[in-house]
Formats: sequence, C-alpha cells, structure tokens
Amino acid sequence: MTELRIIARAVLSEYDHDEQLNMMTEEAAELIAAINKWRRGRIPDSEIISEIADVAFMAIQIAESFDINSVEVELLKKARRQLVRMPLGYNKINALNETGHKTSCDLLSGSSACSCGRWML
Ligand SMILES: [Mg+2]
Ligand SMILES: [Zn+2]
Repeated sequence: MTELRIIARAVLSEYDHDEQLNMMTEEAAELIAAINKWRRGRIPDSEIISEIADVAFMAIQIAESFDINSVEVELLKKARRQLVRMPLGYNKINALNETGHKTSCDLLSGSSACSCGRWML
C-alpha cells in the first residue's frame, strides 16, 4: 500500500464519515474558487497546486472510505474511455512498449486499438 493510502487510513480513523464528506466538498469548493482566481491572474501557480493537492488527498480518503479498489478500476476505465474518444489517442502515448503490450500489439504500429489483450475496454 502506498504511503498516501496508509496516511489516508490513519486520518480516516480520526474523523467520522460525515466530517470527511464535508471536508471533501469544502476542498472542492476551494479549488473551484482558486481556478477562477488563477484565470484572472490573481494567484500564482503554487496556490492552485496546493488546492489541487488538498482535493486529491481528500479524494484518496473518500475513496478509501468507500472502496478504493473499485475507484481504481473506474478511474482506469474512464482514462481508457477518454483515450478511445480522442482521434489518434493511443498514438499520443509515449513509450507504449513500457505499458506491457506485447511486441506484436497493433498499438505499437500506430493502430488505434490494442490487439494483444493488455487493455480490455
Ligand atoms: Mg484547500
Ligand atoms: Zn496491446
């Protein structure tokens, strides 16, 4: 388990679920406000980075509190679905051979679909 997940579980054990859900929505709102300020040039990148990290860490905690493995499955499904929707999406991924596709996979020769079974959609 990653350090972030271990810490997320420790934090979860300190607060009740409803408090965690409230914090999630608060942090999400702070990020929305930060994005709007950043667009107007009122805050530096470092502030938006901090708010993104707040949201990401809360999201990890909330994921832990439900079922983080199911969240990971969904996350990968959504990422792959987005890739499929993009024209030449697969071609935009660098170093495809590092993703575990067989050398015979059509992806490696520029096809828009995996033929080796590594990516089941
Ligand atoms: Mg925040
Ligand atoms: Zn493949």
